[in-house]
Amino acid sequence: MIHIENITKNYRVGTQVVRALRSVSLDIHKGEYVAIMGASGSGKSTLMNILGCLDTPSNGKYVLNGKDVSRLSDDRLAEIRNSEIGFVFQVFNLLPRNSALENVMLPLVYSGIRKHERKNKAEQILTDVGLEDRMEHRPNELSGGQRQRVAIARALVNKPSLLLADEPTGNLDSKISEEIMKLFAEIHRKGNTLVMVTHEEDIARHAHRIVKLKDGEIESDTINKNPVY
Ligand code: ADP
Ligand code: ADP
Repeated sequence: MIHIENITKNYRVGTQVVRALRSVSLDIHKGEYVAIMGASGSGKSTLMNILGCLDTPSNGKYVLNGKDVSRLSDDRLAEIRNSEIGFVFQVFNLLPRNSALENVMLPLVYSGIRKHERKNKAEQILTDVGLEDRMEHRPNELSGGQRQRVAIARALVNKPSLLLADEPTGNLDSKISEEIMKLFAEIHRKGNTLVMVTHEEDIARHAHRIVKLKDGEIESDTINKNPVY
């Protein structure tokens, strides 16, 4: 599903060039659950931005679901993001004035589905993440864990082929983090492909494969024989 071949990413800062990724190659198959780890500055966010079609590599190739997306225009990248990728962030990025239901319906507005059906789909997915009794709540009327569930529902409502999570538990205490990891395990069991960046071992050990970055290169890529769930 994901084929990355020798990608590099260089950032120019003044006269200096920062080599954020150096010849990274990586294949991720449909249905895998991968954690990306590494120290601060190792290139995790850069890799996630490329995987999520938010940015393109300086060199090398990225093929997503059979399409070469390495050199697309911003508009084409935006189309691919909307149709293929769901994002979950450390900060939940919910619209503060809108209800949980409205937040989750939003991505469907661009897909041309009628309002009645948008509502049905959003209600279903909010129920799936355990928020059937919180649909009319605004973000500030929800706990941190509930907000992250709304964000996860919003990421999934378009049925993306890839769910990307960047430090999804970074703002949550350990008990709530564990609940979110349980939800990720359920999402994975349903056949979704998950890639999650985390710097926490306790969170990474929920994934079935752990890729470690160091100084812009893959330091190790191992199967986790004992995922938590
Ligand atoms: P991580 O997510 O692992 O902390 P990043 O991918 O954010 O790592 O950063 C990798 C390297 O690239 C770092 O040295 C960082 O300073 C640099 N970098 C990241 N984004 C930019 C940018 N927009 N402009 C210049 N340098 C950047
Ligand atoms: P947590 O301990 O998980 O952070 P909170 O103590 O923030 O949870 O919230 C407990 C319950 O109260 C949650 O179910 C949440 O929906 C509800 N709640 C929290 N804040 C508000 C609010 N401002 N208005 C309405 N309900 C709220």
